[in-house]
Amino acid sequence: MSKNLTTREEDYSKWYNELVVKADLAENSGVRGCMVIKPYGYAIWEKMQAELDKMFKETGHQNAYFPLFVPKSMFEAEEKNAEGFAKECAIVTHYRLKNDPVNPGKLMVDPNAKLEEELIVRPTSEAIIWSTYKGWVQSYRDLPLLINQWANVVRWEMRTRLFLRTAEFLWQEGHTAHATRSEAIEESEKMMNVYADFAENFMAIPVIKGLKTETERFAGADETYCIEALMQDGKALQAGTSHFLGQNFAKAFDVKFANAEGKQEYVWGTSWGVSTRLMGALVMTHSDDKGLVLPPSLAPIQVVIVPIYKTEEQLEEISVVVNGLTTELKKLNISVKFDNRTTQKPGFKFAEWELKGVPVRIAVGPKDIENGTFEVARRDNLSKEIVSKDGIAIYIKNLLEQIQTDLFNKALDYRDTHITEVNSFEEFKEVLDGKGGFVSAHWDGTAATEEEIKNLTKATIRCIPLDRVEESGSCVFTGNASSGRVLFAKAY
Ligand code: AMP
Repeated sequence: MSKNLTTREEDYSKWYNELVVKADLAENSGVRGCMVIKPYGYAIWEKMQAELDKMFKETGHQNAYFPLFVPKSMFEAEEKNAEGFAKECAIVTHYRLKNDPVNPGKLMVDPNAKLEEELIVRPTSEAIIWSTYKGWVQSYRDLPLLINQWANVVRWEMRTRLFLRTAEFLWQEGHTAHATRSEAIEESEKMMNVYADFAENFMAIPVIKGLKTETERFAGADETYCIEALMQDGKALQAGTSHFLGQNFAKAFDVKFANAEGKQEYVWGTSWGVSTRLMGALVMTHSDDKGLVLPPSLAPIQVVIVPIYKTEEQLEEISVVVNGLTTELKKLNISVKFDNRTTQKPGFKFAEWELKGVPVRIAVGPKDIENGTFEVARRDNLSKEIVSKDGIAIYIKNLLEQIQTDLFNKALDYRDTHITEVNSFEEFKEVLDGKGGFVSAHWDGTAATEEEIKNLTKATIRCIPLDRVEESGSCVFTGNASSGRVLFAKAY
């Protein structure tokens, strides 16, 4: 086993990068800004996908797939969207290479194979999807259209970090079309709530639901709903977004329907997405200096069993007991691994499974066989207990549920103690540079103030919380009138 991780205290950012690599989640690749997701990391992503996919289908959505490339003219149709993403686009200009006559053995772009129209590698799929919806929607009977796509997208990010911000990332993007404004707004809110439910009940990550300010809004949207989470270093992370698109894309792509009276109307739209960034949120919310801490709902292995033995006979005896336990656990849908590698010592195995965040470790040795017991250790709080083998499977099932709840409550407690109300700009800066977290402050509602505060402190408005109380106050920066507090934070 390689030496210990950098601690969070020493260097949070380094701790994160080391952990992602050492726990075998992902690594940097030979392609700038793009990562390789390794099997252990991908197994966690698959669990997230499976749950989200179920939730999307339960709310009436179907999956479909659209092309990776978007012709430039199509991309340009919704101007605000195009402008917003222009700086991050990868563009295909040619379709063929040829041998380079000057550099033998090398290839060059064939100038005769220039595309008539350049293709944009999708940074998001509204354009290609709305151009398709034009053919799918004629009458009110065709609505609503409730489609989701699982895909990769490319945004040419300048500063990348494993999972949190990569140039290519995996995500799902929902794209829906509705007959009325209110139905589309309802859909955007519904999907934000699905994301919040998923983050809190599946990932054990508490989130704040809110609206983005105009500055932070998705390019081409009339309103962006979001869920914001708080990481252990006091920085916020946008964990998911759901956009109310108004009729912007319908107008850009001429998507109209005949209403019940036969009158032509433009369709209303939404789009919503979460990405592999959620893997970063997961790591940064729960993990510690010994490695990953995974909530049982997402752990590819929920229970690992390590035998403690000296002789082969002992291992055989232990294996018989363990096989019985494994069968019982599997019946309860608990994923379990018996780590009977003979090439590694128990201490090594303990450290490895700790690093990988397996929620429960069971150790069993000759003494336990004699006494009819197991040693059960929790990854989250590192506590250990001797448990009788009678009823152990149910005990483990309950324990996993308890760990899931405890992880959420711990993160919630941290989050709640890191929302600080401030009433002066002095206080604002003091909190940001001190304990960090969300700073709840009055803001005059202008983009100019938002921008100035960002330049001075690096803090941005994470959201206007949906549950905020309307109270009149004065802006923490300009002193101008404000009708309620918003949440500022430094963010990933
Ligand atoms: P957007 O389409 O900009 O609303 O983003 C949809 C989701 O993708 C949000 O949850 C973002 O946090 C996430 N996201 C945006 N850019 C990246 C990136 N470069 N890497 C990973 N996730 C991203």
